[in-house]
Amino acid sequence: MKLADFTEFVPFNALRKQMGTDRLGYFELFDPTLHLTRSERSELEQSGVLLSIANIKVLPDRALALKNSRVIAYNPNENWYRQHREYPTYHTAFCSQLEAFRAAAADTEFLLISRIAEDYNLVKIRNSGEVSLQPHGFVVCKHCLHSLRCKDYDEFRNRRRGYGQKVLGEFNLKEFYRLYLQYPLSFGSRSVQNFAKLQSDKPQSKGIE
Ligand SMILES: [Zn+2]
Repeated sequence: MKLADFTEFVPFNALRKQMGTDRLGYFELFDPTLHLTRSERSELEQSGVLLSIANIKVLPDRALALKNSRVIAYNPNENWYRQHREYPTYHTAFCSQLEAFRAAAADTEFLLISRIAEDYNLVKIRNSGEVSLQPHGFVVCKHCLHSLRCKDYDEFRNRRRGYGQKVLGEFNLKEFYRLYLQYPLSFGSRSVQNFAKLQSDKPQSKGIE
């Protein structure tokens, strides 16, 4: 069967003119292995999705993603921050700290979330075994900004320490997602190949109740 050449289809061209564009646009068939469904998007936005660190998707620019959405990821275990005396941080990229985490305990589960918020939930497990969710403030991981060279941030160039602290201090996710499109990420054939290389196993995800 020979399909009509839609670039010559008068009603479409009239519509394109009305829209004020010369471009033909881009169309991607829905593929559930690459694209989030509506309910997955909603889960990612609200409670977030738990995924073992070994299964987190890393984009060619080293940012983190779940299917076709960029995400932040953090360790939701409140005890971990207490034991390590660290203020909770979220990751925007596959940084040196995540690499170390993966090498030490690849099955540790991180929470992936697309929501922009001041606080995110930590899971607190008391000695009695009682489990509760506790909202807590977070800061961005500086190693991630280094990995992405976000705003030219470089954690090892001391002469630029003042500048680096300014970038860290002023960091906000809303602006980050203006620089790095959050959703929907588009997979041209080249990106899909990169993904296939980076992602050998399909992630098994489950939400936090
Ligand atoms: Zn990081």
